[in-house]
Amino acid sequence: MDFSLTGDQQSLQNAARRFAKEELAPMAAAIEDSGEPVSPEFRKRLASLGFLGINVDPRLGGLGLGNLEALIVLEEFAKVSSALAFPVFESSVGPVRAIEHFGSDALKNRVVPAVCRGDIVVAVSMSEPEAGTALTDLRTRATPDGGDIVINGTKRWCSGGGHADGYVVYCRFSGEPGAGSIGAVYVERDTPGVSFGERESLMGFRGIPSADIHFDDARVPEDHVIVPAGGFRKLMQAFDLERCGNATMALGQAAGALEDVLEYVQERKQFGKAIVEFQAVQLKLAEMAMRVDASRLLIHRAAASAEKGLPGIYESSVAKCYANEIAREVTGAAVQLMGGYGYSRAYPMERRMRDAWGWGIAGGTIDIQKINIASAMVGRRFDQRR
Ligand SMILES: Cc1cc2nc3c(=O)[nH]c(=O)nc-3n(C[C@H](O)[C@H](O)[C@H](O)COP(=O)(O)OP(=O)(O)OC[C@H]3O[C@@H](n4cnc5c(N)ncnc54)[C@H](O)[C@@H]3O)c2cc1C
Repeated sequence: MDFSLTGDQQSLQNAARRFAKEELAPMAAAIEDSGEPVSPEFRKRLASLGFLGINVDPRLGGLGLGNLEALIVLEEFAKVSSALAFPVFESSVGPVRAIEHFGSDALKNRVVPAVCRGDIVVAVSMSEPEAGTALTDLRTRATPDGGDIVINGTKRWCSGGGHADGYVVYCRFSGEPGAGSIGAVYVERDTPGVSFGERESLMGFRGIPSADIHFDDARVPEDHVIVPAGGFRKLMQAFDLERCGNATMALGQAAGALEDVLEYVQERKQFGKAIVEFQAVQLKLAEMAMRVDASRLLIHRAAASAEKGLPGIYESSVAKCYANEIAREVTGAAVQLMGGYGYSRAYPMERRMRDAWGWGIAGGTIDIQKINIASAMVGRRFDQRR
């Protein structure tokens, strides 16, 4: 067992770190102010630098590297800003991977290379007003009709809602309740019958717009079905990788906070000496570092367990749950260590704390990850309804 990155992985990490510090850091505050997502030009620049579709099949426009490489880059970007890291997240661990794994050749050839080029953004639309944790209660209907699929329903909390060009929409293909009739369909933003609610005002996630999506007899061709009824398990398998991406976004908040605060406590003087000289500060730093290191190892284990495929639910849920918890703790500790400067919006620390909280809800709450973990441990699902 070797815990060190290879020479190539270190070079990739250094390139991502340099780019993030030099180019992303100055952009992060502006995005936080405006709340606007990154521009298409910026996405194309990321693509030209090899930061999009890192672990995607080269025949579909990716770099063909492993999940670990993608997550290494994602962490460096996320240390600076969730919004600036989002195109990397979407193109390497996002819903486009479900299209790559399960979509028809025609659909994957059209969508996946366009995402890797930075031409389009694809979001996932699972949650509904009445179906959050209880996702299998979703009501959005997909009805086959004369070679098309007609979609009706309302989705909620979609990150990228209104902004993304395409949506992987979880739908029910018949009136039968439960997971058995659920599949997923690809829907483009401009499809007649698709409309969006007001942009949500969230505690964090500035620059990652989200909104309700309404489907009113929205018609798409049959080859837009990514996974037909009965494929919920497949969708959840693809989601295991997205979970590792969520974990890495959370880790990025914590690791970025730790890096910044480490510098701060060596510069900031109180009582005539740098505050790092106080033992209480030293203990706090060590506690933060232990959490960040452990989180990174759990994420890398989940990624390595799957090499270029999809990670298992146990490893990905442990990685997400732990990263979500420690990100809240570590960013909170960093805000505290920076005193008034930590609480000020002039510095990125409070933003990291707000974003860290969101990653522990998005992609399934912390507690539901714990239920996944216990299920994997005993080898069966726990019925939440009885
Ligand atoms: C920042 C952000 C981004 C998001 N992005 C997307 C996206 O891109 N696409 C998308 O489809 N959705 C997205 N979501 C929605 C997200 O997946 C849901 O918010 C999440 O699954 C929880 O659902 P809910 O909000 O309806 O809460 P609820 O399901 O109502 O849960 C409320 C509380 O009850 C607890 N709870 C519920 N059931 C159980 C149980 N059986 N056992 C123990 N505790 C339970 C939960 O843990 C939680 O603490 C996003 C959410 C956020 C905050």
